[in-house]
Amino acid sequence: MQLGAFDVVVVGAGFFGATIAERVASQLGCTVCVIDRRHHIGGNAYSELDAETGVEVHRYGTHIFHTNSELVWNYLRRFTDFTDYRHRVFTVAQGRVYSMPINLATISAAFGRQMTPREASAVIAAEAGAHGEQPARNLEDKAVGSIGRTLYDLLIRGYTQKQWQTDPRELSADIISRLPVRLTYDDRYFSDRFEGMPRDGYTAIFDRMLKHPNIAVRLGVDFFDVAETMRPQQLVIYTGPIDRFFGYRCGSLGWRTVDFEREVHDVADFQGAAVINYADEDVPFTRIHEFKHLHPERHHALAKTTIYREYARFAGRDDEPYYPINTQADKKTLDSYRTMMPAHPNVIFGGRLGSYKYLDMHQAIGAALKSFEHQVRPFLAGADMLEPMILSD
Ligand code: FAD
Ligand code: UDP
Repeated sequence: MQLGAFDVVVVGAGFFGATIAERVASQLGCTVCVIDRRHHIGGNAYSELDAETGVEVHRYGTHIFHTNSELVWNYLRRFTDFTDYRHRVFTVAQGRVYSMPINLATISAAFGRQMTPREASAVIAAEAGAHGEQPARNLEDKAVGSIGRTLYDLLIRGYTQKQWQTDPRELSADIISRLPVRLTYDDRYFSDRFEGMPRDGYTAIFDRMLKHPNIAVRLGVDFFDVAETMRPQQLVIYTGPIDRFFGYRCGSLGWRTVDFEREVHDVADFQGAAVINYADEDVPFTRIHEFKHLHPERHHALAKTTIYREYARFAGRDDEPYYPINTQADKKTLDSYRTMMPAHPNVIFGGRLGSYKYLDMHQAIGAALKSFEHQVRPFLAGADMLEPMILSD
């Protein structure tokens, strides 16, 4: 394969890479080669029909599209219609089921009595206040300081410990900031303006984005095996792991990976919801995905269902990296790699792996649209250097 024949090389067929490829081909009329070392497009958002049950499964775990950005929402709607699916999650702890994220139903259930918003606020404030006012230095401090010890011990500590394989006192407070705490019965997992499931599944979106005469897709190809076929200063959009690009010269960045165990059950409905979390530490998996529930509008003829049990662990270099752990040591390593980037003025490092940031899909697409306007377009118009920018915004 001769990468040098194309105007642009995109490494990774996930949302970041596919968005840039689509824009370059449709807006600039340039040619693009998209390569992925996996044998499918879509990156971690890839979905496929399970041959045994006919249920559309998300091979890398349940993906729910949600965003507040009208720009991103309108962009993606060129390639798909969305259903009105609203995600709701439940957490099992000590044999009982709680609504997640924490809301008035969760608090009432955890304390064993109905509470008004005011009562719930007072109970939580008393527990959180007892924890002290110090600034949150880590995930545990942040969680106990905002929800109190009872809810933290019941629903957060064990789940977080299992998910990150790290003591919550050593994890960044940001991780838990993703979860809201509500003093109403609003039990939606996300509170963004726009939310839904792509009606024909995720892979159909990528098929449509990449179906352009200017785009060639090469699957099962590792960039580093074919990089020598490039031209000097050819534009590369690199969405693989940043530490690998630099040959791990400054060390490996910490990642968490997840393993999924697939099971088919001869029942129409296994658990009654798309995602159920398991908070107790003696339950080895973190959650169970039952994909059928993501598309209640579809008719599933068989009384069968596919579930995935999810197990978390640290990623080695040969594992799929999923979540950046981002310890203080990781931040230092990342800084070292960032100082090496200017030596590659023709490379844009983007997406979740290339920026070492936990990006949701809408953030990956938003960052790609921005990069297209501020970096890719000027570069292809003849600017010799890429304008530096933080790609995760
Ligand atoms: P990716 O999708 O990871 O794509 C990068 C691609 O690059 C991969 O396909 C990889 O094979 C390829 N690649 C890497 N190195 C090379 C190489 N050397 N040569 C060739 N190809 C290479 N987001 C949401 O918005 N909602 C959710 O509900 C949600 N749930 C999630 C659940 C899980 C379990 C996980 C792990 C993520 C979830 N996400 C969710 C995040 C979502 O997956 C990411 O936002 C999205 O995948 C980011 O797209 P990307 O293009 O940056 O990266
Ligand atoms: N979390 C938890 N219990 C739950 C759900 C989430 O303790 O039942 C915590 C956990 O620390 C997790 C964080 O909240 O890492 C963010 O949750 P989110 O659902 O965003 O994680 P993701 O879906 O990205 O794995």
